[in-house]
Amino acid sequence: MNDSVSGRPSLARGPEILAIPGPSVMPERVLSAMHRAAPNIYEGELIELAETLYPRLLNLGGCDGDAVIYIGNGHAGWEASLTNTLSRGDEVLVLVTGRFGRGWADIAEGLGIKVRLLDFGGSRPADPARLQAELAADTSHAIKAVLAVQTDTASSVQNDIPALSEAIRAARHPALFLVDAIASFGCEPMKMQAWGVDVLVAASQKGLMTPPGLAFNLISPRAWVAVETADLKTPYWSWDRRVNGKVFHMKFCGTPPTHHLYGLHEALSMIDEEGLDNLWARHRRLAEAVWAAVGCWSDGGEIALNVPERADRSWVVTGVITAAGDAPRIREWCERQAGVTLGIGLRLDVVTGGYSDAMFRIGHMGHVNPPMLLGTLASIDAALKALGIAHGEGALSAAAAVIARD
Ligand SMILES: *Cc1c(COP(=O)(O)O)cnc(C)c1O
Repeated sequence: MNDSVSGRPSLARGPEILAIPGPSVMPERVLSAMHRAAPNIYEGELIELAETLYPRLLNLGGCDGDAVIYIGNGHAGWEASLTNTLSRGDEVLVLVTGRFGRGWADIAEGLGIKVRLLDFGGSRPADPARLQAELAADTSHAIKAVLAVQTDTASSVQNDIPALSEAIRAARHPALFLVDAIASFGCEPMKMQAWGVDVLVAASQKGLMTPPGLAFNLISPRAWVAVETADLKTPYWSWDRRVNGKVFHMKFCGTPPTHHLYGLHEALSMIDEEGLDNLWARHRRLAEAVWAAVGCWSDGGEIALNVPERADRSWVVTGVITAAGDAPRIREWCERQAGVTLGIGLRLDVVTGGYSDAMFRIGHMGHVNPPMLLGTLASIDAALKALGIAHGEGALSAAAAVIARD
């Protein structure tokens, strides 16, 4: 195969490397666990296996409440989190640090919830002081919930969830704290109880290494109080039916997502085997290797990390800025010549559609190890050279030094 753009014979053989920020790489173990005949959904193994998932999801989120599993994607999880806790006409304050806060706000508006946006731009996290001031000014407590994203996958900003929670408390405001950890769940630390997070929204296809199709809500005891008055509740999304239903069938409001449950079970076993501290440390280390490489490229050209401050950067995805038009060329070269698929840049000022030609993203979530990541970085380095895009040298050595560090 010749590359249709350069005419050069492609080197892309061997395993393809997927470095997009979700859906992420699925481990063979997860795929194998799903490769089976349809199970009995009324009694036996599947039901026993499903029961073990809930405590493990709660443990992963540091939650002392309940977990609900939906057949759905992240958007489904967003909607469920809102319908179970809020009423039509309620107001929510949405912290925007890229694109996904905007998406959640869009769902809220569609449900008849009033939305107030606090926009922090696309390369900085939400400022706890601004949140505190906004809530302190809301003396009538019109705001019923604060919505924040842990890792905004479009900008690769990581919000400081405990600091934002602390700001809500410091303002002495009763708003619930709802957090989207769809990209970061199972990769970045989450301690709902300790941090004062009331509802966590997650999904299967990013840090959890399982095909798209499962959404999760983790529910704190405090969030259950809001359920009593929420008038947006509907039977299908109802937490109450799924948590308190007397028969297994009610956990999924119908047929369970049989094969996804086997896959998730295996993924959670892999996470248990690694241990949470190791899991978080691995993601942090791999992220630092990416930052080191991009930092070198950025000496002497227009390449740059989208998020300037280290403390504000996601551990699961890195947005890389390029000159306008270069990002698609780099992605194309990597895909055709090296077999590495990079994440497309998303425009941050819209809810759906809209790609940026001045950013690409490197996904480093879930089933990722140093050779996969270093191979991806080396391929990008080669792309910059092949395409004549100005960049600083030493990226690979800098990344390897991070991997080698004690
Ligand atoms: C991917 C993602 C979503 C949307 O999830 P879907 O499964 O595509 O609906 C929402 N929030 C964040 C932070 C995400 O990364």
